[in-house]
Amino acid sequence: MAPELGIAEAAGWFLGAGVVFYLEASFWESLFHEFLLDLNPARRRWMFALKRFAPSLYLEHYAHNVLHHFRTYRGAYTRQFESEAERLALDVAMRKHLTPRQFRRVTTHHYGASFEAPALPYLAPALLNLLCLPLLPDVAARAGVLAADLVFATPYWAYSKWMHLYLHRRFDAAVAEAPGWMSVWLRSDYGVAVRISHYLHHRQPTWNYNLQYGADLLRGRWRPPTAADWDDMLTIGLVTPAHRARFEGRRVWLHPF
Ligand SMILES: [Zn+2]
Ligand SMILES: [Zn+2]
Repeated sequence: MAPELGIAEAAGWFLGAGVVFYLEASFWESLFHEFLLDLNPARRRWMFALKRFAPSLYLEHYAHNVLHHFRTYRGAYTRQFESEAERLALDVAMRKHLTPRQFRRVTTHHYGASFEAPALPYLAPALLNLLCLPLLPDVAARAGVLAADLVFATPYWAYSKWMHLYLHRRFDAAVAEAPGWMSVWLRSDYGVAVRISHYLHHRQPTWNYNLQYGADLLRGRWRPPTAADWDDMLTIGLVTPAHRARFEGRRVWLHPF
């Protein structure tokens, strides 16, 4: 096979698989949140049943929903704790029902602000995609699909693991404190759009799950900010007046504000 054809073939597989992998990861993120992390009260009952057989998954729900949504960031969206005393009081409450190992896992991973379960549930789509590699016709196809898997199926995992913490910081603080490559992402239109969407997720935890956009919108689980939301985001420094001028009312694919 001519090398040029190999590159064109790999690019074709990269783009084709990329569309599928992007949507797969976005749907996985949205559904994982709705049915495991941010359960409504009716669904929480079966999560308690699961607790005995899958304690790691239960801990993930507890860390994200109970700790991240309701037991931290109580005083302000941009401050995890109001004081050291508040953090210590939460530690005392957690020690009453978590094992020492679970307690360590939860606290060293920012009380649910960076997931602490094994990465497996988050990386499941990317890992499952690898199963198709032996079925592909040649090396060029495998290289294209492998690259697509890395580029399109893993961003939401990285967003959850590392960037989420910065979504809860004031915009100026986030871009100043984040490592250079992350600061570029935080300043981008996509980073700003996700910051806004995640704020709405905390206002209503059964909406706007995605950090990798798409599935929420397609599933009817995404809402745009209201004028009052914009006012509040500006007051707490989550966005700048320039962001509001650029994004408010915008309805473009990927940045649907
Ligand atoms: Zn949530
Ligand atoms: Zn959050």
